[in-house]
Amino acid sequence: MAISDSLQATKNRIAAACVAAGRAPDAVRLLVVSKTFPAGAVREAFAAGARAFGENYVQEGLAKIGELIELRGQLEWHLIGPLQSNKTRPVAEAFDWVHGVDRLKIAQRLSEQRPPGLPPLNVCLQVNISGEASKSGLPAAEVPALARQVAALPRLKLRGLMAVPEPGPEAAAQHQAMARLFDALKADGLDVDTLSLGMSADLEAAIAAGSTMVRVGTAVFGAR
Ligand SMILES: *Cc1c(COP(=O)(O)O)cnc(C)c1O
Repeated sequence: MAISDSLQATKNRIAAACVAAGRAPDAVRLLVVSKTFPAGAVREAFAAGARAFGENYVQEGLAKIGELIELRGQLEWHLIGPLQSNKTRPVAEAFDWVHGVDRLKIAQRLSEQRPPGLPPLNVCLQVNISGEASKSGLPAAEVPALARQVAALPRLKLRGLMAVPEPGPEAAAQHQAMARLFDALKADGLDVDTLSLGMSADLEAAIAAGSTMVRVGTAVFGAR
């Protein structure tokens, strides 16, 4: 299938899931995950209307941002993979969003290193909602305290929470647990608007639970 067709099919899936959940058809943003696909694939998706792209690996993302520099003002780049503290500077300089913040030290470095000429860097805290030892993200119990600290950093804008639930029978409970954590931040008075939850396989379930941004790679670009 052409990228323009699979992109449209994905948008249709998202709109249908919103309607099925009693939400507005445009309540959920699509982040197109371009990891492992070349700049030409991003260009094609951009031509078909995609405006936000997610990359997992810092070096690969920086290279693609450079290759597509003529589009820089027209699209958003999101880092959705893990971030080590020795890689924060180029990320603070080149990306618009970072979804994988799970420690205060990383957030502080991103805030210090965000260039003054750019708007604040948008960040989500990554939650290890499945509790699997192999997964990155902070434990759910630590989210409220870190959220307050990150929200106070001057060069960051805390947008919300991100997670990669475990596929299988536990997924629905994990989606709902993320929605409760997100609601708790709002009840705490934090100005958050993004629950980054749902991928190609589980976007309907994530939208039913309250996701506001789905991160979709395979359904748009094909298998990696
Ligand atoms: C790769 C990846 C995605 C996209 O997954 P698909 O199953 O290809 O849609 C979403 N989020 C994260 C964090 C990823 O690493």
